[in-house]
Amino acid sequence: MTELPSPSSRPGDPPSRSARRLLLVHAHPDDESINNGATMARYAAEGAHVTLVTCTLGERGEVIPPELAHLSGAALGQHRMGELAEAMRALGVDDFRLLGGAGRYSDSGMTGLPDNDDPGCFWQADVDRAAGLLAEVIVEVRPQVLVTYDDGGGYGHPDHIQAHRVAMRAVELAARDGWDIPKVYWNRVPRSVAEAAFARLDDDLSGLPFDKAGEVGDVPGVVDDDLVTTEIDGTAHAAAKAAAMRAHATQITVAEPYAPYFALSNELAQPLFTTEYYELVRGTRAPGSREGDLFAGVGAETGAEGGAGEAP
Ligand SMILES: [Zn+2]
Repeated sequence: MTELPSPSSRPGDPPSRSARRLLLVHAHPDDESINNGATMARYAAEGAHVTLVTCTLGERGEVIPPELAHLSGAALGQHRMGELAEAMRALGVDDFRLLGGAGRYSDSGMTGLPDNDDPGCFWQADVDRAAGLLAEVIVEVRPQVLVTYDDGGGYGHPDHIQAHRVAMRAVELAARDGWDIPKVYWNRVPRSVAEAAFARLDDDLSGLPFDKAGEVGDVPGVVDDDLVTTEIDGTAHAAAKAAAMRAHATQITVAEPYAPYFALSNELAQPLFTTEYYELVRGTRAPGSREGDLFAGVGAETGAEGGAGEAP
């Protein structure tokens, strides 16, 4: 255990006062802003209670700015917790937590590194024990919607795969302990959307502060369009998402002035999506077109009736 302070020991309104409650489970600080920043900003602005659980502090992330290159290990973790707090201010989210408390699980590093064998790393965590910690949060917050990664972790990072396993197991444990989450989603990007965005990026690249473009395979969660059940238009919250991503300065470079592109430490430009996409994997939806609201169809028995923007 490290002695890092808890980033959010005093969340704002108790979850029970908000009719609609959204819980997101992520591996490292920055994943939430990249994958769900527009969604989080939109629901927070609409008065939903948004809770983020991050499983590690990302102590093994590669640092981009040379002036911060000296940060590593616990010092990087502490710095990234500050970045996370700043990102959450940008998104209007005040309930964000580290799974089991800050420092309980450390970053496992990229696949195949010796770091994966560190007994304290998240990859080595007992799934049931970690899921038990998350189930406690679920029973406390009583979310109608949980968002996490697919079973490949979106792109194969061990901590993302483990976050998926822990989140899905926690859904089962919480159902046994009194809160059965009506809807669970995985983060997705429709292949046609990703391909179109990279085509635009190729045209725009000469005006961007990046030398090279990435490719569709660099985007986590890309799937055939017909697997995507839900799209959340966060266009109105594009600036908040960009600000949140910019707050994670050790990990992300966002094109300035605002352009819908960013790069990670590999310096390959990628599209910054402000409509975010999901696959419903637990719960039901009306057949036909994609949902435009994660809470669509969530009924009175779970306390979300009458929420703004709910589908008929
Ligand atoms: Zn990550």
